[in-house]
Amino acid sequence: MRFSANIQELKPSATIAVSTLAKKLAAEGRDILNLSAGEPDFDTPRFIADAAVEGIRAGRTRYTPPAGIPELRQAIARHLETRAGRPMDWNGVVVSAGVKQALFNAFFSLFGPGDEVLVAAPYWTTYPDLIRIARARPVEVFGAEARSFKVTVDELEAAVTERTRGLVLNSPCNPTGAVYTRDELDAIARWAKSRGLWLISDEIYRNIHHAAPAPAPGLLDLDEDALGPFVLVDGASKSYAMTGWRLGFSYCAPALAAKFTALQSQITSNTTTVSQVAGLEAYSNTEAAEASIREMVRAFTRRRDLVTRRFREWMPGVPFVEPEGAFYLYFRVDGLFTGEVTDATGWCSALLEEHGVALVPGAAFGDDRWVRMSYAAADEVLEEAVRRIAAMATCT
Ligand code: PLP
Repeated sequence: MRFSANIQELKPSATIAVSTLAKKLAAEGRDILNLSAGEPDFDTPRFIADAAVEGIRAGRTRYTPPAGIPELRQAIARHLETRAGRPMDWNGVVVSAGVKQALFNAFFSLFGPGDEVLVAAPYWTTYPDLIRIARARPVEVFGAEARSFKVTVDELEAAVTERTRGLVLNSPCNPTGAVYTRDELDAIARWAKSRGLWLISDEIYRNIHHAAPAPAPGLLDLDEDALGPFVLVDGASKSYAMTGWRLGFSYCAPALAAKFTALQSQITSNTTTVSQVAGLEAYSNTEAAEASIREMVRAFTRRRDLVTRRFREWMPGVPFVEPEGAFYLYFRVDGLFTGEVTDATGWCSALLEEHGVALVPGAAFGDDRWVRMSYAAADEVLEEAVRRIAAMATCT
């Protein structure tokens, strides 16, 4: 069968592939601890779910404008204003079916054949593939392990060519849990501006910050003069435990937002209306939203402390990145390779087969010596999973 060049390099999301296999094994009756997925294990807060149910009953079930219900876009703009301390134009907000669609809009609208896009690495598995769908070329830029892989201006500068058009940054980072400081972000933003590059900032984990109450620093914490052309993406999936609702947004210059809107109008029309009604409650009932975020972050921080403590106790020789945000532990397994197991993909397969723990090999994030474990699970599950990982680590 012949397919178009658009999808020549397309492959399914690596993280979804692992969690699908783990679910299949569990359905066959195997005792599987699935720590491969990137989603909070909490239910959507009740006040948000109730608003959605009321919305359905009130007949809010029709098409909306492609960029989203104006009240929701305005509520998101107000939410951004409280962060930035300056007015945000709600015409720059486009509501999408998750951050994934917001990123697709950005990459597809801004980059194309012949363009290179720098991707801070290790990276969330989808960025390079989405960039390739736009037929541009992703260029990985790895930070140093000693700095939790956070990239510096020098490292970025070394990767620039005359074809470079953009940079994708993600803080707090999936898979490492690293968080850029305000100063680090400021330096990178000013550099991107000086180079005339689009800065795509994925801040979806911004609220899941272990040094809370303050969320992790983001682009809008910077002075306006630090920012060149940028697209900020964020959404409800992680902050409000709403992964299945598919609700994300982008914020950028209104002229670009109009292009995203046109693109969506031809592809998906609006994000599901009921999800927007739920999102309107999430982004406008700030008191209830902040309380639920606080509760969730408290649990994630306790679990972060639990898994890092157990790793230190049970596997002192296994290096990991100290997570400061999100809900992942990124640890290094090349010291555990044997004659048969020579990469993290093989190591994760053996762990799943022999010990029933599903994790994601670093091949999905650009370095197959590392493994990502999600700690969005109950404390007992995490404790048992780390015990099994230690059993695997100490028998090799
Ligand atoms: N960005 C990052 C860094 C993620 O980890 C994820 C999901 O795992 C997404 C974006 C996608 O989020 P959404 O559910 O809003 O599409």
